Amino acid sequence: MTPLERLKNHSNEFRKEVIPLAPNVYCAVGFAASNVYMIVADQGIIIVDTTESTKAAENVFAAFREITSLPVRTIIYTHSHRDHISGARVFAGEDDPEIIASHRFSSDLVAVDSDKPLPNKALAARTKRQFGIGLSFPDERINLGCGPGDRPLEGLGAGFVPPTTQITEERVKREIGGIALELVHAPGETPDHLVVWDHENRILICGDNYYKSFPNLYAIRGTRYRDFDAWADSLDLLLAFNADTLAPGHSRPVVGAENVRTVLTDYRDAIRHVVAETVAGLDRGEGADELADKIGLPASLAEKPHLQEFYGKIAWAVRAYCSGTLGWFDGNPTNLDRLSPRQEAEKIIALAGGEAAVFDTALTAHRTGDHQWSLELLDRLLAVDSENTQYRLLKAACLRARADEEINATARNYYLVAAAEI
Ligand SMILES: [Zn+2]
Repeated sequence: MTPLERLKNHSNEFRKEVIPLAPNVYCAVGFAASNVYMIVADQGIIIVDTTESTKAAENVFAAFREITSLPVRTIIYTHSHRDHISGARVFAGEDDPEIIASHRFSSDLVAVDSDKPLPNKALAARTKRQFGIGLSFPDERINLGCGPGDRPLEGLGAGFVPPTTQITEERVKREIGGIALELVHAPGETPDHLVVWDHENRILICGDNYYKSFPNLYAIRGTRYRDFDAWADSLDLLLAFNADTLAPGHSRPVVGAENVRTVLTDYRDAIRHVVAETVAGLDRGEGADELADKIGLPASLAEKPHLQEFYGKIAWAVRAYCSGTLGWFDGNPTNLDRLSPRQEAEKIIALAGGEAAVFDTALTAHRTGDHQWSLELLDRLLAVDSENTQYRLLKAACLRARADEEINATARNYYLVAAAEI
């Protein structure tokens, strides 16, 4: 199967459906980037997570309204990522629900529209590329790796309602309309994760601490360091519930205690393996470039369907661990004071016999399928002549070719949007 065919098959994970998990618990999958859960209680419903847009939230709510017309009494955010909090206004309506989140809520909020001193324009541009916004569906954008390729974008990021209750205890039991829930802090993809345990039905709503892909330990839109060890520790915590159903923030629920145990154990072991291998490499004096090239999962994990790199990617995780723990410097003193990109390009191009010779090699590389080498040569040519149309067009062609070599949806989307920008 080609990478493109594999990524297309992964879309099946996001086929639109309201899945009953228990007589009173439902999962809406495929309506939005993220899943929404509804727990039907006495005289009211509990909503866990709310999607990234008001339109997607309206679609989910309409589907839930075919099941019950009870008012919304509680909304719970598993974490502060925008794809989980931006449809709350739709569910809240006039019902004035309690809105519950962690006291660490917003610690990882993607501040593309805030006044915090972050590179917000860069974050916005990179987020657009990661999620393939502006690409055609289904030809260019296949899916998001974590969600369907054809989610609605009307009201994107528009329906956030701030929490009214922030949980400070590590774990707390709450009874809501006769339903006993336990809310438990479990830092993972973000530090502010709050998972929801429905003991009666043995369902664990785990936010983004699990979904069917290698975990996104680094997001190419740009993100602060995600604490690998804390995430692995939280997977142990999730395992201790012995849940019968694992209800993730993205991708379909995992049903059956044995299946839940398998995916959580494999997820934990995959993260711990990447940490152990990266630490060992750093201790040998190797840098991120070398380690990203050679670290993979052991054979016992590499073929697992829930660890394929549709969303997260091992090489990016390795780099993120290096920079997250030691910072940007790879330990090689050559790199303390590098030539500027333009200086380096001028010297390499001169060494290679001039721009025409380098371009000729880049063109041959592209035609023979070595698109990455072509891109690396083209970046040197563009460092000395950024407006050159030939260089730019060949770079766009190489980016499109690289996109088809990827099973990783965020890489594919990033390549294709960057090509379109050129
Ligand atoms: Zn998410």
